[in-house]
Amino acid sequence: YKAKQAGRNNYQFYNEMCLIDSEKELVSGIKKALEQNEFFIVYQPKYNLSTKEVNSVEALIRWDHPEKGLISPIDFISFAENHHLIIPITKWLLEQVCIQCKEWMELGYTPVPISVNISTKHFEEGTLVEDVKKILSKTGFDPTNLILEITESIMNKNEEQAIQTIHQLREMGIKIAIDDFGTGFSSLSYLIKLPIDLINLDKTFLDELTDKKNISLINSIVSLAHNLNLLVVAEGIETENQHQVLDQTGCDIGQGYFFSKPLMGTQLQRAFLDTKER
Ligand code: C2E
Ligand code: CA
Ligand code: CA
Ligand code: CA
Repeated sequence: YKAKQAGRNNYQFYNEMCLIDSEKELVSGIKKALEQNEFFIVYQPKYNLSTKEVNSVEALIRWDHPEKGLISPIDFISFAENHHLIIPITKWLLEQVCIQCKEWMELGYTPVPISVNISTKHFEEGTLVEDVKKILSKTGFDPTNLILEITESIMNKNEEQAIQTIHQLREMGIKIAIDDFGTGFSSLSYLIKLPIDLINLDKTFLDELTDKKNISLINSIVSLAHNLNLLVVAEGIETENQHQVLDQTGCDIGQGYFFSKPLMGTQLQRAFLDTKER
């Protein structure tokens, strides 16, 4: 057993040695990206399934790397989380979103609520409320038009602190959504514990929509959510059929390529905000 363990440690050490250069590079690459504006934001609308109107817009980050080209958040967000870089990224993104929305308002568009993804690391660091407050007051953004998307992993370490943080955010008028709902272990019990406004049903539910049992599962989640006064968002709707089935379950809001891919700010302005003009 000892030999095996030593072997594994050696392997890990070797592995880390090999990675060290590129890890360092990635850390400095992300820092440089923040300084030189290599990150940009795309916006994916979410629709009210029954009225088919835009309900809100999710801000998603992209990295336009000078040599590697476009990098998906899937390839750098968890690295950023593990290297103390997610908080500076989130602060940058939130400020950009607030500035962009202010510009849209000044152009005469009716504001649409915007959602921003928040890392559990930011909850654990304990600076989230303060960071959000600062950016809102600096930019003059209306907190009632801000939705923060969190995941149930905020409950992994300090439940009390997590719940307290959510209370403080909601007291400011911010809405809270649980993202990727249904992929964790304790989803249902957290629904009752967490003072939230929305749940984002994970896309994996949609992948098995032909399964009758899966549809009853969605039906049950939707009625439980409605009993708790929560709205349900279905993520990753790609087909007309998925749209119809979900609408029939009573699910409130939908997001996905069937409606719209994530858009550049200018595209969003043209395609969606124009129709909301007063
Ligand atoms: P998410 O928050 O669940 O975001 C939804 C993801 O699903 C987005 O991928 C979106 O482009 C994609 N999507 C939307 N509709 C469809 C569809 O119909 N079909 C399929 N196959 N995919 C669809 P994206 O933008 O690549 O983001 C991936 C994940 O990266 C996000 O998942 C989120 O967890 C994370 N992420 C993105 N931006 C940020 C950010 O600013 N901060 C943090 N902390 N995480 C972010
Ligand atoms: Ca999200
Ligand atoms: Ca999600
Ligand atoms: Ca989403």
